[in-house]
Amino acid sequence: MAKDKKCAHPACNCQAKEGSDYCSNYCETAGGTAEIQCNCGHPDCSIRSGA
Ligand SMILES: [Zn+2]
Ligand SMILES: [Zn+2]
Repeated sequence: MAKDKKCAHPACNCQAKEGSDYCSNYCETAGGTAEIQCNCGHPDCSIRSGA
């Protein structure tokens, strides 16, 4: 299960991409900031637009 790495963004629940600590460019950019919500656009993180 070594591949099962979570995105390094504190507020992100996505799986990190292979070879990266983050799931997306968004998280890679925002990973250093302590955001309360992730806006990477992945379904796992779009808690506001839950249908
Ligand atoms: Zn996310
Ligand atoms: Zn992420």
